[in-house]
Amino acid sequence: MSMTLTDPTLLRADLHIDGQWLAPAGRPRFAVTDPATGAVVADVVKGNADDARAAIAAADAALPAWRARPAKERSQILRRWHDLIMANLEDLAQLLTAEQGKPIAEARGEIAYGAAFYDWFADEARRIYGDVIPSYAADRRLFAIRQPIGVCAAITPWNFPMAMIPRKAAPALAAGCTMVLKPASATPLSALALAELGARAGLPAGVFNVVPGGAAEVGDVLATHPTVRKLTFTGSTEVGRTLMARASATIKKVSLELGGNAPVIVFDDADLDAAIAGTIATKFRNMGQTCVCANRIYVQAGIHDRFVAALAAAVAAMKVGNGVDDGVNQGPLIDMAAVEKCEAHVSDALAKGARIVTGGARHALGGSYFAPTVLADATEDMLIAAEETFGPVAPVFKFATEAEAVERANATEYGLAAYFFTTDAARIWRVGEALEYGIIGINTGATSYEGAPFGGWKESGIGREGGRTGIEEFLETKYLCMAGIAPLA
Ligand code: ADP
Repeated sequence: MSMTLTDPTLLRADLHIDGQWLAPAGRPRFAVTDPATGAVVADVVKGNADDARAAIAAADAALPAWRARPAKERSQILRRWHDLIMANLEDLAQLLTAEQGKPIAEARGEIAYGAAFYDWFADEARRIYGDVIPSYAADRRLFAIRQPIGVCAAITPWNFPMAMIPRKAAPALAAGCTMVLKPASATPLSALALAELGARAGLPAGVFNVVPGGAAEVGDVLATHPTVRKLTFTGSTEVGRTLMARASATIKKVSLELGGNAPVIVFDDADLDAAIAGTIATKFRNMGQTCVCANRIYVQAGIHDRFVAALAAAVAAMKVGNGVDDGVNQGPLIDMAAVEKCEAHVSDALAKGARIVTGGARHALGGSYFAPTVLADATEDMLIAAEETFGPVAPVFKFATEAEAVERANATEYGLAAYFFTTDAARIWRVGEALEYGIIGINTGATSYEGAPFGGWKESGIGREGGRTGIEEFLETKYLCMAGIAPLA
């Protein structure tokens, strides 16, 4: 292992339940590998259904004291968690790139973004206000208060472990809930390092538990256990559908951040440089492995050829390699299945009339590296138009009119993020309102901010993370109706 940490105790490989690091005797471990080299980074204890139940019991036991803590105290612990993440940013970036593959500069950015959720929700913890409701009867007084929903389960993906986990844990714990997390098996080390820092920040035992392990055992217990009142999931639409169905038996509140099929629309009047920079930012961040990644790039006829040439030049100049090496801006994909999906989408597109402008195949570095790719002449009958590629392949579609672009952009069951580039103010309003998506980037390819609501329409999800609405997902409303209040004598 080439990674050297200033604080080696941030590399945790055991279960984190009730404030303890556990490695039960005889329990199998699974290897976490570096996608850039194939080297084993750590062997992590494989949690099972009993571990998941033990973690839920710990979260349940910790709940009464945690929710009773004054909001100000919860806030202080969350802010310390933020500060510890920032103080250990370099070690955490090494861990993240080692298990996930992204360029180290992106890893640093993701960790700061993740930490910002603790900062934001440390403040929101102190702003969970209720209502005093004007009464309908002289002797009655009416109130609504908001209280933590209870034990929460979180299931998270491998593409942004240092951001997706804080985005769920920070509002849940700020609200006064406790949590059991099952991280993706490809990237459990980020989750475990976050748990270590949470403990150092002063989280009481049982408030934040991490159980790496199989989807079928650990994930299913989290989705079905009656003590869990809230399930928050980020991942594919297919798994989200399954989890929502599983959670329905106990009527859990669910938040789902699912797949996308993001359109980028570049109008003739766009600033070409801004459109190229924005398209690169949304298409190639994390090698195209984000749920808000551009998946279809619609370019108006008048700017089309200039856009394709400029995009291809920028993409061909990208430096592919191990994410820890200087200047690399495209690392390996997470695994070989991801490479095979890119290949399948490219070959299907070529068979249906697309042409390769740059890239188009596995990268000469081998392993799970795929060459950053631009395809032109893409059409809606191609797989790449309907499915998330989740890789560094940018298909360009040509369009003629604004109405046509909007119609084609909306013609998908997904509705997470969309982007468009134009300098026409009226068009900004028209198109911004017409796109059926939860997040719209206008003249930008990067919209993420902890203070803004993140979430999708249609089959891209339910609920919002971040911002003022993020904490609502972890609260219940209680109406109190007080009778028998006699008038002043
Ligand atoms: P991705 O591969 O993009 O991470 P997935 O939706 O496959 O997306 O997985 C996201 C998370 O959901 C991972 O932590 C995975 O282990 C978990 N998961 C996958 N299938 C199930 C399932 N049937 N039940 C519970 N959790 C699951």
